[in-house]
Amino acid sequence: MSRVLEGKKGLILGVANKRSIAWSIAKSLAREGAELAFTYQGERLEENVKELAGTLSNSIVLPCDVMQEAQVDSVFTKLDASWGGLDFFVHCIAYAKAEDLEGSYLKTKKEGFDAALGVSAYSLTALAQKAAPLMEKKGGGSVVTLTYLGGERVAPGYNIMGIAKAALEASVKYLAYDLGSKNIRVNAISAGPINTLAARGIAGFTEILKVAREKAPLKRNTEPEEVGDTALFLCSPWSRGITGEVVFVDCGYNILAY
Ligand code: NAD
Repeated sequence: MSRVLEGKKGLILGVANKRSIAWSIAKSLAREGAELAFTYQGERLEENVKELAGTLSNSIVLPCDVMQEAQVDSVFTKLDASWGGLDFFVHCIAYAKAEDLEGSYLKTKKEGFDAALGVSAYSLTALAQKAAPLMEKKGGGSVVTLTYLGGERVAPGYNIMGIAKAALEASVKYLAYDLGSKNIRVNAISAGPINTLAARGIAGFTEILKVAREKAPLKRNTEPEEVGDTALFLCSPWSRGITGEVVFVDCGYNILAY
């Protein structure tokens, strides 16, 4: 039986190490036949990403700090030259200054606000601008990003990242509207808490994991592979009628009132 993403080509942004949600997503996509390209943020992560990508066949690895416009341009120029188009990209990128992820949100300075919103929210729009012409060559495409419940409700300590996720989720809807006529779909996955490098920067993360495990209807934490398989669904034709959505993969935690 042929695999659902056989012959499809996609870009994964946000692998830092094997715990990264982006890496779980990559494994799901590769399992179903997709050919993948990866980016890494800075030389510090180059070896990690090359080693992981090397375990999959034919993957391309390129540098890309989303705050460097020339690097973003170069990624899409190279993908166009290698692949002649793009079927999907998966955005798993977030950043906030450590001081803005503790205490109250009220104290956030403009510099920290701009840094978090630029990397965690605007980058999706910047990438979509560059990806759209390549996706048009394929007759359409799929864009997937990652968000968290703290963008919709107050998660104490999540602070500026909650504001960034709210902007990211609104961007998903506006991009879905703008790109729909080109058959390009844009969706977000709202994942439950998962122990990754980025998550460890959030004050009290171990307690957040414990509360989610105890209260969620499924009585356990979200597995990164579950996010991976949902991203696979959203990148595949199985989800062809879905755009502008936030799909929760959180063992049901978000349905609770308290
Ligand atoms: P992670 O630390 O593995 O990934 C974060 C990635 O962002 C890293 O690869 C890092 O290099 C990249 N990044 C940061 N600044 C960048 C920049 N300027 N340019 C390019 N890349 C940059 O952690 P993760 O938990 O896998 O995070 C992936 C996404 O999932 C994030 O958007 C995060 O907010 C979201 N998310 C995580 C959880 C969780 O509990 N771990 C829950 C919901 C959503």
